[in-house]
Amino acid sequence: MHTKTLIEISLDLQAKTYSSVELTQFFLNRIDQHQQLNSYITVTPELALAQAKAADQRLANGTSDLLTGIPIAQKDIFCTQGVITTCGSKMLANFNAPYNATVVEKFNQAGAVMLGKLNMDEFAMGSSNETSYFGSVKNPWNINTVPGGSSGGSAAAVSARLAVCATGTDTGGSIRQPAALCGITGLKPTYGLVSRYGMIAYASSLDQGGPMTRSAEDAAIMLQTMAGFDEKDSTSVNIPVPDYRAGLNKSLVGLKIGLPKEFFGEGLDENVAATLAAAIAEYRKLGAEIIDISMPNLKLAIPAYYVIAPAECSANLSRFDGVRYGYRCDNPVDLTDLYTRSRGEGFGKEVKRRILMGTYALSTGYYDAYYLKAQKIRRLISEDFKAALATVDVIMGPVTPGTAFGIGEKMDDPIAMYLSDIYTIAINLAGVPAMSIPAGFVAGMPVGLQLIGDYFSEDRLLNIAHQYQQVTDWHNFIPTGFE
Ligand code: GLN
Repeated sequence: MHTKTLIEISLDLQAKTYSSVELTQFFLNRIDQHQQLNSYITVTPELALAQAKAADQRLANGTSDLLTGIPIAQKDIFCTQGVITTCGSKMLANFNAPYNATVVEKFNQAGAVMLGKLNMDEFAMGSSNETSYFGSVKNPWNINTVPGGSSGGSAAAVSARLAVCATGTDTGGSIRQPAALCGITGLKPTYGLVSRYGMIAYASSLDQGGPMTRSAEDAAIMLQTMAGFDEKDSTSVNIPVPDYRAGLNKSLVGLKIGLPKEFFGEGLDENVAATLAAAIAEYRKLGAEIIDISMPNLKLAIPAYYVIAPAECSANLSRFDGVRYGYRCDNPVDLTDLYTRSRGEGFGKEVKRRILMGTYALSTGYYDAYYLKAQKIRRLISEDFKAALATVDVIMGPVTPGTAFGIGEKMDDPIAMYLSDIYTIAINLAGVPAMSIPAGFVAGMPVGLQLIGDYFSEDRLLNIAHQYQQVTDWHNFIPTGFE
């Protein structure tokens, strides 16, 4: 059953080939057998089986949705009432959220089954899933390598078929980068398309939740449920949600693909470049036209992001003070001791580094030099996307400079770690949607191709991804040991 896609399983459930309870038990057994990946922080067998039972009733009485009875898993950044939400941190290791995130609520309404909560970098800060308080996640294609981050648990679980599909969040690449390194499909929607209510905030102007799946068609189904206006999120955009599956089969003849020269220069592994060239050649065969473009401000994305994201996180994480919820130190002598020790003991090293950087960038005297300047660069980057997308339909490029790196390899060098997001971060600064799709392998490790579109063009991106997946098989490969 695990080798099938979401849509195939959904059709099986409707045809009563097997029940959701049988399917859910099957996935729970797989999760149990493959704990070595450390992809789950919490597994919820009782809840899952109860939801599966309810789903079987819906399937029997004809009130089902495509997601009814499908075993999914949530990144542990989405609040779940009654199930601990840790955000990968000691600070929230015992946090029982009093409400569900809107995304979780929507999956519940669709009748999806939640298998559990997935491991992630602490507060979504990281590119390797090594900053999690709950330990590193392993890449199923080679367990000595990282799965990427921060949605590393989601990518590893979907790749190893320990869930049919999963949610992720992407602030600077955290859906696309792990999707690429684990050989799955990931979509970061336009900022404002998916509600952030109940999604623990890292950098609020950049954070966006999205689907992580086997195929583009599966991503379309998940996005259909996740997207849409939410009055509980002030940055949610109130526009109609299109039918994401309706346009999947549109022809790509005449599609204009832009290749920014800044994406294919120094720093990109030559074998990855060759793999991407083959993928782009495939698009040419499908009738697309390839156009060389230039986006001169892309190179400023990493420095701008590492001012803006830490600045926002320093504000967002000030709420964790040991008073209201989260970790509290033992026997504080006074209020200052309570604050400083609760935060000092509750947060990990990378989170503290970000809070310090952000507080510095926002402080009087430095605000103009760093924060304001970074915001101006952000505008220039958005203009680059606007100009490029006025001449082409989609921009393509790498997701990561190389394939998955070794566990421990970049942990002592934050700059090297930050550079692994060089091709993903600009997209969040501009707010446009982007996908990573499996495009081949280098030395047995997956390579992702990035597709970037104009605001709210998710339907078009899914169509472009789906057409490629109709003529290639990269998204169907399963890592050895998980077949
Ligand atoms: N790796 C980037 C960071 O550490 C992006 C993380 C993310 O998208 N959540 O901030």
